[in-house]
Amino acid sequence: MNLPKTVLELMQTLNAQGFEAWAVGGCVRDSVLGITPHDYDLCSSATPEQMQQVFSDHQLVLAGVKHGTVGVVTDAGVVEITTFRTEGDYSDSRHPGWVRFVPTVQEDLARRDFTVNAMAYCPEKGYADPFGGLEDLKQGVLRAVGDPVRRFQEDALRILRGVRFAARFHLKIQQETWDAMLSEIEGLDSLAKERIFEELHKLLPVADAQLLIQIQPILARVIPELAPTMGFCQYSPHHAFDVFTHIAYVTEGVPAEPVLRFAALLHDVGKPACFTQDENGRGHFRGHAQVGAQMADEILQGLKAPTAFREEVVWLIDHHMTDYPPEKKVVRRALSRHGKQRLERLIALEIADLAGKGVVEKEDGSVRLRKFLEILEQIVQEEGQMSLKTLAVKGEDLIAAGFVPGKALGKALNELLNLVLAEQLPNEKQALLDQAKQWL
Ligand code: ATP
Ligand code: MG
Repeated sequence: MNLPKTVLELMQTLNAQGFEAWAVGGCVRDSVLGITPHDYDLCSSATPEQMQQVFSDHQLVLAGVKHGTVGVVTDAGVVEITTFRTEGDYSDSRHPGWVRFVPTVQEDLARRDFTVNAMAYCPEKGYADPFGGLEDLKQGVLRAVGDPVRRFQEDALRILRGVRFAARFHLKIQQETWDAMLSEIEGLDSLAKERIFEELHKLLPVADAQLLIQIQPILARVIPELAPTMGFCQYSPHHAFDVFTHIAYVTEGVPAEPVLRFAALLHDVGKPACFTQDENGRGHFRGHAQVGAQMADEILQGLKAPTAFREEVVWLIDHHMTDYPPEKKVVRRALSRHGKQRLERLIALEIADLAGKGVVEKEDGSVRLRKFLEILEQIVQEEGQMSLKTLAVKGEDLIAAGFVPGKALGKALNELLNLVLAEQLPNEKQALLDQAKQWL
């Protein structure tokens, strides 16, 4: 394993004082996989007090000292060094009730969640891998360290972490570990909602449809509103799948960013509540976008998602059935109203929604959507994004022309913008003023 120079120097400084120092956890796993680690965590036989002495010439971050962690500030950022420790009594399923320092790296590795995360490395001794993490990585297996049932009882967040690591590194969850995830699933109920949101936020961008389908019981536990979509038959020639299977494909199909992945996961959450069958037995879901948007709003509030994030997801779900004709006027108007990023996200969601139906239609609806995107790109290139800010008259121009500040003034500005967007007026000051004066 290659270690950066600064990290090696810290390890050597500890070694020179008679302490062990190992790179541990995610950085070992990543480098075995050939991925450049985003940070390097160390563990050591030195206690926090001893570390503070050894690194007395460095600036230190001491916020984690209680849990044995000292952050050493280096040119390459903060490197966290944690004393070999064990822990126990996870009363709130998150913070260990106590930590106790232990003498060996093997004992430290035993407290970690999965074998692939429970490896350490140091240049003199090579790998410390008491639970077979190297072999599991090679075989593509995610396995809990020790007794999986106990490990998930100690900390139910590990269920979500495990699913996330499996998704991120394309690992198969070992059977006993999977069985324990399900048998200990009720532990998820007592996790802090923001922790669940944080895990989903990291999971969704790396999850594919197969994984989402596999983890339905877990998703239903953390977002109970999804449960009715699972196995819900759509009774439609336009849908090959039940609602949740469709949701899984749409989620896989949108670009891998959290807003879009959440929007996809929740886009049809309103379907079961809106279901009707016509006299031919065909299923309909009228109004499901609006009902779903409302439900998503409540779900994301419940998960304590940041407001801006929630509003973006809700907007996308609310609008996901919008049919925009691929015409310059329509695109220009939508662009001025919603902005480029939102529109691009919406169209990406709609394209994935079509692709996730699992049936080949006579007419491929995504052609229209792609055309819309093309026009959007063209308009942005040629004209920039038209809005009240770029309108050739401003409020003060209208006031100078005799308008009274207030509602009517705002309305006139918006009306002028609409006329420009509809290409009925050029975006030129005189033409716009002439029109406005007629309204006076
Ligand atoms: P990432 O690249 O996502 O940061 P990571 O493996 O570094 O991956 P962290 O959440 O930063 O993950 O945790 C660092 C290490 O601490 C893990 O590799 C694991 O060994 C251990 N760990 C973290 N959280 C837990 C937990 N809830 N239970 C047991 N061990 C954990
Ligand atoms: Mg990490």
